[in-house]
Amino acid sequence: MNAMVPQWIIEKKRDGKVLSEDEIRFIIGGYTDGSIPDYQMAALAMAIFFRGMADGELAVLTDAMMHSGEVVDTSGIARYKADKHSTGGVGDKVSLVLAPLVACCGIAVPMISGRGLGITGGTLDKMESIEGYRTHLEIDEFLSVVDRCGCSIIGQTRDLAPADKKLYALRDVTGTVPSIPLISASIMSKKLAEGTDGLVLDVKWGRGAFMKTEDDARQLANVMVGIGHRMQRGMTAVLTGMNQPLGRTAGNAVEVEETVRSLQGSGPTDLMSVTLRLSAHMLLLAGKADDVESAEQILQGHLDSGRAFEKLKEMVALHGGEVGVLDDPMRLPQAALRHEYMPGKSGYVTAVDADRIGRACLALGAGRQAVEDAVDHAVGITDLVKVGEHLEKQDVALVLLANDQAKLDAALHALQDAIIVADAPPVEPPLIGETIRPGGET
Ligand code: URA
Repeated sequence: MNAMVPQWIIEKKRDGKVLSEDEIRFIIGGYTDGSIPDYQMAALAMAIFFRGMADGELAVLTDAMMHSGEVVDTSGIARYKADKHSTGGVGDKVSLVLAPLVACCGIAVPMISGRGLGITGGTLDKMESIEGYRTHLEIDEFLSVVDRCGCSIIGQTRDLAPADKKLYALRDVTGTVPSIPLISASIMSKKLAEGTDGLVLDVKWGRGAFMKTEDDARQLANVMVGIGHRMQRGMTAVLTGMNQPLGRTAGNAVEVEETVRSLQGSGPTDLMSVTLRLSAHMLLLAGKADDVESAEQILQGHLDSGRAFEKLKEMVALHGGEVGVLDDPMRLPQAALRHEYMPGKSGYVTAVDADRIGRACLALGAGRQAVEDAVDHAVGITDLVKVGEHLEKQDVALVLLANDQAKLDAALHALQDAIIVADAPPVEPPLIGETIRPGGET
């Protein structure tokens, strides 16, 4: 007789007890093959949300989710393989700059990315602003692109961590997304299934992030670093701020255009400092540099020489994308309407609320409310003012790009109080916080 009864397992977690390895594997296996229904998985997710998980339970949950599908065999690529993962934010185009930049240093970057959901943008949606770019490659072609040019950015395949694909969609509609064990298992199961040797995590905190406080981000980072370390991967996490968007654009095509500028040497300071720091940690994991400073110098050299930009073009071409749009970003999708937004007050900018900016982008159609929604690649926000800058009364704080007047009106509504202007300059916490490695912070 099978002693595994889903409701008994749910009750056990509801009562705060520790689940056994067999129980966790039974649940994940059953949920993946459909024998355990959504309603039981939702109840268990809520029990985990309130009761948490011990380290051992979390390790098994992650392993079971990772092995619910294919684990990519990257052993045919001789170079060190590393990836970066961000917990998500607004205007976060770091992956687009980082993948070709790190590939220039002789590291293979096989990057399996996600789509935007809610206010957080998605790397895949941004890449698909480039005409012809194929985000769905079979694993063999993906590995061949990585082998040939050093990097590839694709979407999660049907076979990669399918338990997470199902569970993430369920959590999204059952109020169980912001749970540290569930987020950790979700992210790490996918990233471990990519088969990289090392992983750098950008764990964001602030108004536009899942984690609202630096303390919560630290806790999440420690848990994920611990999971990866137990699975013998090189791990580093960096805590970074997401109170205001990263860079001066948020959307899809507008972020590709900012990526091009960044790879050509004129990227915004905040975007470049986060990109260089995360990339530097990938170089350290790969043994390509001895410290962050020398790693950043090596990376800067590839930006200055134009090599990193050429690498992006090489990757886009191998994905079937129209490389010409990178040389001439005016050929990226363009919106019909342009609206300059002025706060109408002079003073120092003390807040550019990433959450409200993200909601405005969503209202314009740059993001999606449900997984199956289509995005409008042309719309978004550009020319974003940054915290600490000074505005005169008639100055523009951001530009909205829209394709529909009603959506533009909705975005303007979402922007209310998004930008705060005051007489005194603000005191902001540093954008880049602690670095967390196995065994503690540094
Ligand atoms: N990103 C993921 O992949 N999973 C989560 O649970 C949260 C963010």
